[in-house]
Amino acid sequence: MSCPICQKATDTNYRPFCSKRCADIDLGKWLGAGYSVPSTDPEDIEEAIEQTLRALQERPERPN
Ligand SMILES: [Zn+2]
Repeated sequence: MSCPICQKATDTNYRPFCSKRCADIDLGKWLGAGYSVPSTDPEDIEEAIEQTLRALQERPERPN
């Protein structure tokens, strides 16, 4: 089984993800952070991960 975010080996502590980072990214997807992977290139995925984490941190609280 591999991480659905980055395809690395799953860590039992964070399954089905490989790390808390990827778990957070998946959470970000559910929160509507607009996460998208532009390509399957690992560097592009890394870039998308960084952008997602940044968006999560900068995301302002907003009412319903
Ligand atoms: Zn991962």
